This record gives sequence, structure tokens and C-alpha cells, in this order.
Amino acid sequence: MARLILFGPPGAGKGTQAVSLAEDFGIPHISTGDLLRAAIASGSPLGIKVKNFLDQGQLVPDQVVIEMVEERLGQGNVASGWLLDGFPRTIPQAETLEALLEQMGQGCDRVINLQVSEAVLISRMLSRGRPDDTEAIIKERFQVYHQQTEPLLAFYRGRGCLVDIDGDTTIETVSQRIKLALVDLR
Ligand code: AMP
Repeated sequence: MARLILFGPPGAGKGTQAVSLAEDFGIPHISTGDLLRAAIASGSPLGIKVKNFLDQGQLVPDQVVIEMVEERLGQGNVASGWLLDGFPRTIPQAETLEALLEQMGQGCDRVINLQVSEAVLISRMLSRGRPDDTEAIIKERFQVYHQQTEPLLAFYRGRGCLVDIDGDTTIETVSQRIKLALVDLR
């Protein structure tokens, strides 16, 4: 049983680590970025509504992502836990998640904070080739991260569930460090 949040700036490797971590714990990987990109690719009303935010490196309105996560956590296969990747990204999202989990009689075991230097983040993102990985949009996403998302570190540190992981190295080493930090949850 593990209820986990993967946290970090854009390009920190959240998506990469999330896939193996979710597999390892046998829990669903819930990525709001992936859900939003899938909605855009399908041309659904939600996709049409959110496309511009992603294109410009801006956050999608809280209500939209909150509804998505609420719906996903309400589905069947979360009994053994879950791994949230890219959510929450604002204080209102974190507060709503906390209230929602309380209603469900759940909590969050650990928030994993991937720490990576800005130079490494930029070079990783530029080599990734996603449409929102151009230099101008990367800059915008960093600014959004610093203004709206970084304050969550203090929020979760205050809850006593934050673990800092040095993510400035290879995928394998980061993965080992995360496993070590979660060893008590097995
Ligand atoms: P990601 O794949 O996590 O890097 O997210 C890609 C983009 O999706 C972000 O730049 C935002 O535009 C949007 N997005 C993903 N998660 C959230 C969230 N929790 N709140 C608002 N926007 C989000």
C-alpha cells in the first residue's frame, strides 16, 4: 500500500520515475499532464478547452484538474494506493486534495521532491522534443513553477511527509534513491 505524490520542477524526471515506481508498487500512475494531453489528442470538449494553456506553458484552471483527479480517484483500482504525478501544482489543488482524501478516509504517505539543477532541467527538456519544450515556453513553465507550485514544498514539509531526493544524476540512481526512501511502505 502506497499513496504517493511525485513532485518537482518541469523536466525533473517525474514521468520517467513515476512509470517504474507505480509498476514496482503495483499502483496506478495518475499523471494530470498525460490525462490532459490525451484529452487534447482525442479532440474532446475538455481537450479543446485546455489546449491553449498547455501550448503556452500556463497551468490549466484548478477546477478542471481537480475534477479530473477526483474522478480518477473515485474509480475502482485505487484500493492498493496511487501515485500522483504533476498534481497538485497549486495551494488550492493541494488543499482540495487533502479534503478529498480525508472524505475518502485516506491520506498521503509521502511526497517525493525531485531536486534537479536548472541547467540539467533545461538540457533534459530541450532533448525531450515535446511541443511545449521550446525555450520560450520552458522559461514560462519555470516561472509558473516558482510562483505557483514551489510554495507547496513548505505546505508538505509542514505536514511532515516530504522527502527530498537528489535527482541530478542518472535515471537508475534516482530510482534507487526513491526506493530507499520508501522502503518502510512495503
Ligand atoms: P506535465 O506533463 O506534468 O509537465 O504537464 C504539462 C502541462 O499540463 C503543464 O504545463 C500544464 O499546462 C498542464 N498541467 C498538468 N498538470 C497540471 C495541474 N496539476 N494543474 C494545472 N495544469 C496542469
